[in-house]
Amino acid sequence: MATRDEQRQHPLPLHILFLPFFAPGHLIPVVDMAAIFSARGARCAILTTPVNADIIRPAVDRANDSNCHGTDAPSPAVDISVVPFPDVGLPPGMENLMSLTPAHGADYNFKFIQAAQLLREPFDRFMTANRPDAVVSDSFFSWSPDAAAEHGVPRLVFLGSSVFARCCSETMLRTNPPETTTNPDDDPDDDARLVSLPGLPHRVQLRQSQMMDPRKRPAMWAFHKENDAADQRSFGEVFNSFHELEPDYVEHFRTTLGRRAWLVGPVVLASKDMAKRGSTDKAHVTDDCLRWLDAKPAGSVVYVSFGTFTSFLPAELRELARGLDLSGKDFVWVISSGTDGSEWMPEGFAELMARGDRGFIIRGWAPQTLILNHPALGGFMTHCGWNSALEAVSAGVAMVTWPRYADQFYNEKLIVEVLRVGVSIGAKDYASPRETHAVIGGEVIAGCIGRLMGSSEEGDALRKKAKDLSVKARSAMEKGGSSYDDVGRLMDELMARRSSGEVTRAASFEA
Ligand code: UDP
Repeated sequence: MATRDEQRQHPLPLHILFLPFFAPGHLIPVVDMAAIFSARGARCAILTTPVNADIIRPAVDRANDSNCHGTDAPSPAVDISVVPFPDVGLPPGMENLMSLTPAHGADYNFKFIQAAQLLREPFDRFMTANRPDAVVSDSFFSWSPDAAAEHGVPRLVFLGSSVFARCCSETMLRTNPPETTTNPDDDPDDDARLVSLPGLPHRVQLRQSQMMDPRKRPAMWAFHKENDAADQRSFGEVFNSFHELEPDYVEHFRTTLGRRAWLVGPVVLASKDMAKRGSTDKAHVTDDCLRWLDAKPAGSVVYVSFGTFTSFLPAELRELARGLDLSGKDFVWVISSGTDGSEWMPEGFAELMARGDRGFIIRGWAPQTLILNHPALGGFMTHCGWNSALEAVSAGVAMVTWPRYADQFYNEKLIVEVLRVGVSIGAKDYASPRETHAVIGGEVIAGCIGRLMGSSEEGDALRKKAKDLSVKARSAMEKGGSSYDDVGRLMDELMARRSSGEVTRAASFEA
């Protein structure tokens, strides 16, 4: 065992445990983030369950390979610590939210939350056996600040949202604006009334129907309240974002809300596995799609994808197909597998697809980051999940925004009104995949694509701004950039915390 003097001279690498929630939008950025910390000399472990481990393994292996082949000394590896999925009555193998369909009841969602609560026991075992220096836990594990504290270890939060969305939801949870900040003359049941989120750096207003209204969703409201309280008891929060993207909100989060934040993204720019990120197979889809894109002029194709959990009614799909046809633009469209074309295909669409040159449909998993970075890409129609939005920003691609639920309406405000890199489709209703959304007409969809991709003052400005932000995103991740420096600052702080009185812990860590 190393002596204290030896440890001071050659300290063991920082050891960080990552605890992601069971959904691609949470897992994918955590793998990239662990790879970033590992490349900077930290030993990282990701605690997850067998199916989720299979999903992330290709990306983890690729990150470890690339760390071994650098010119400097190899970095410590990223490990996956696999624990059984807690028995909450879900069918065997159903371990990721992505496997849920609208046909599964709300009860299934609840079981995933239950499973998150039951991960505490394997977490405790890991902590006792490995004694890491810090835990980066998903916000959904609200037990983890207290559990980490019992092991004498700081808990950092990672939710995978923008800082902007975190500031909005914090305002929402603290002040409940639908009830507190409206005029006495307002009709509280009027879905169309505009509700302001007070105290933010910009004027942010949403329609009441776009908000997670606590009167309609008391259980979800209570869940977020509990998570938020736990997040406030944490050491700080790690964001997949970069300072130059949303500086006013970083300042607001730190100064007005009094929360600590490190911005370490866009983590996708550090990904060593663009092709397989988040998926296990389908190399042929990637090859076919990239070959199809190769034949298209620069900036001519719109990519249409709504993340991993969003589903559309047949009537919505029909209008979307009509809109893509009417737009006259070539498109790559990701449709969730299992959607039967006979339920929604408008007249003439099958023939349009049979021509092969106008559209490429992917059923299931798409190599999204490769598509977004292809020169043929000219626009992205997105549900505004934060990973997707930031991947578009990183690739310099402007967006048509079509939010559905969670933080997506907030992200739309950031993209359209603050950053000015998007056109809103005009979605009005916050509704989960199991609920009904108002159908948006094909003409509206085609019009938004035209505004984004056409040659006009508006389109030119949006696309130029997107390219400018991409340059800033890349600079943030380079040596000396803001995100690069935040990674270093956080590691230094965690290391200093260890050496200020935790030498004995470090010694037993090696044993
Ligand atoms: N993704 C992908 N291919 C797909 C669908 C999604 O690579 O066909 C990735 C996407 O690049 C992003 C993540 O899955 O990294 C989805 O996260 P996001 O926050 O955008 O949306 P969510 O699915 O969590 O709503």
